[in-house]
Amino acid sequence: MNIPNKVMLENVSCPLGCPKSEEAILSGRDLLHDLPGTFTIIKCRTCGLMRTNPRPTPETIGFYYPDDYGPYLGTRVQQTETRQTYGIKKLLKPVLKRLFNFNTDTLPPLSPGRLLEVGCASGAFLHRMAGQGWQVEGIEFSGTAALAATRLGYRVHAGPLETAPEPSQPFDLIVGWMVLEHLHDPIAGLQKLCEWARPGAWLVLSVPNAGSLEFRLFKEKLYALHLPNHLYHFTPETIGRVLQTGGWTLEKVHHQRVLNNLIASTGYLLRERGFTGLGQKLVDFPKQAGKWHYALYPLARVLSAFGQTGRMTIWARKRAC
Ligand SMILES: [Zn+2]
Repeated sequence: MNIPNKVMLENVSCPLGCPKSEEAILSGRDLLHDLPGTFTIIKCRTCGLMRTNPRPTPETIGFYYPDDYGPYLGTRVQQTETRQTYGIKKLLKPVLKRLFNFNTDTLPPLSPGRLLEVGCASGAFLHRMAGQGWQVEGIEFSGTAALAATRLGYRVHAGPLETAPEPSQPFDLIVGWMVLEHLHDPIAGLQKLCEWARPGAWLVLSVPNAGSLEFRLFKEKLYALHLPNHLYHFTPETIGRVLQTGGWTLEKVHHQRVLNNLIASTGYLLRERGFTGLGQKLVDFPKQAGKWHYALYPLARVLSAFGQTGRMTIWARKRAC
C-alpha cells in the first residue's frame, strides 16, 4: 500500500549526532488501524539507536492518529468515578498492589509535589495522582483527549510538547507513558523537560523494548512496533544514551510484568496466517485483559526477570540541561 499524498515524508539523521552509517532492520505497516504506507526501521551503526526513516513529518503524521486511536479511549475517567473508592474494592486495592507489581507505572518513592504528565490522554493518571495529593498538569497532542482531561479540572496544554508554554514553577516529577518513541525530536523534548524540572527531579517513562527477544522474533508483526507512530525504537542501552544527551541520567530499568505484547503480536501473526477470529481476539487482548493480567502474572514475572516482556519503565534523574 502506498503512502497517501497528504502524508509528507522526511529523512532524518541520528539524533545523537553520529556520522551517517546505518543498516535497514525491517519494514512494516500500520497494523493497528490498517492505514496505508510501508515504513522502514533503520539502525545507526555507531550508537545502535533505531529509528523509523523516512517518516511522516510533524505536520502530517496526524493522519496516523485517528480519533479512535486506542490510548485516547482507554484513559477516560468515568463521570461517576470519584477520587475515593469504598467497600471491598478499597480494602483489596493495597493487597493486590503488594502482591502484583506490574511495573507499568512504577514510580520512585516520592512525597507529593508538582507533577507533569506528557501525553496525558484523557487524564486518568492525572486524576489518580491528584487524588494522592499531587499538583498535576498535563500536555496532550489530541485536542479531544486534552479537553476530556481539562474537564476533570486539570491544567492541560492541548498540542505537542514542542508548543507547550514554560510552567510557572518547576516540576518534581515528570512522567510520559509510551510517549518518547512518538516524538520527532526526543532530544529536544528531553532537554525541554530538563529545563522545566527542579534540581534532582525524576523523569519516569515507559517505552517498548526493541532489545527484547520479541522484537527479533515477531519483527514487523510486533504489536509494540506500531509503525509509523513509533519514530524511535529504544533498547535499555540506547535509551540511556538518548537520556544522557537530553540532560538526564538513567537510574533504573524496570521490565514490565504484562504479556500484552506477546499475546497481541501472536494475534497479528495468526491473523496473517488466516486464523482471523482467534487472531483478532488476541490482538484485542490488551484492551480487555482485565483479570487475565493476574492469571498471567507468574509467567510475565519470569520473562521480565530476563528483560523479555517487550516493554520497560525507566527512571531517570535530572543531570544538567
Ligand atoms: Zn547514532
